[in-house]
Amino acid sequence: MRIAFIGLGNMGGPMAANLVKAGHEVSGFDVMQSNLEAAAANGVTAAGSAKEAVAGAEAVVTMLPAGQQVRAVYMEEGGVIETAAKGTLLIDSSTIDVGSARAVHEAASAAGHHMVDAPVSGGVAGAEGGTLTFMVGGEEGAFERAKPLLDVMGKNVVHAGGAGNGQAAKVCNNMILGITMLGISEAFSLGQALGLEPEKLFAISSKSSGSCWAMLNHLPLPGIVETAAANRDYKPGFAAGMMLKDLKLSQQAAAEAGAATPLGAEATALYTLFCNAGNAGLDYSAIIKMIQGSK
Ligand code: NAD
Repeated sequence: MRIAFIGLGNMGGPMAANLVKAGHEVSGFDVMQSNLEAAAANGVTAAGSAKEAVAGAEAVVTMLPAGQQVRAVYMEEGGVIETAAKGTLLIDSSTIDVGSARAVHEAASAAGHHMVDAPVSGGVAGAEGGTLTFMVGGEEGAFERAKPLLDVMGKNVVHAGGAGNGQAAKVCNNMILGITMLGISEAFSLGQALGLEPEKLFAISSKSSGSCWAMLNHLPLPGIVETAAANRDYKPGFAAGMMLKDLKLSQQAAAEAGAATPLGAEATALYTLFCNAGNAGLDYSAIIKMIQGSK
């Protein structure tokens, strides 16, 4: 298949490389020359513009920073929606606000394209290994067309419903993660203050009603869970700045939908404090240090 890939950064670069490895002809574009060159070294044909990459493509994949760039790349004059051939499959895998995702979908459908929003979880390691989870929003027909390509880049592809529902699933999931990490940080700090060894609390709680994914995989204290960033001086992993981005998207979505998310709001405030203190580049589990008063 002839695919255009726009946004060849930390995630998009290896995702495009996996499409090439699977035998697809990938024409790529990025505003950052070094990222374009790195992609070219992996078999992506470097295009001089998004328009050039999209010419003749049957599918377009975008992996851009935020809603602003996605709206621009798709909806500006000379953008993807205007220049792609009618009926092109459009896949946006960026993590963006639900409102922008739905606005781009609407413009794409009006122009006769088939679009899905397909944000991911799994990080750079998942992008490199082709093991990402895709949360997909869009019509059934568009999902069926996108699935074979998403299967190349990921191992878990879930259709979450109509336009924007992929982004909705992503923000809801990551709001749970942010809130549970704070809960674990408080509980393990309280345990220590009460003279309870973290190993003992983990042995009990990980098998009890307090157990959760973040505790089992990202425990914020070192020496207990092998996969925890706490063992590597909180080198990410999943950076606190990325968690804050996703929490802010959850609050934007909550405001637009009129939904009450008081714990999501508190988590957003706490991660804002943590990131503003210069910790955005640490793993999100390092927030336990702020709870304990040492960051
Ligand atoms: P990144 O900054 O490394 O890559 C984004 C790329 O888009 C950059 O290379 C940038 O130059 C390019 N770009 C920006 N504007 C452009 C434009 N107008 N035209 C062409 N290219 C343009 O970011 P990333 O880490 O690859 O993340 C991409 C998306 O994936 C984000 O929405 C992020 O939230 C999401 N995400 C990232 C991770 C992760 O672990 N890095 C995990 C899950 C989801």
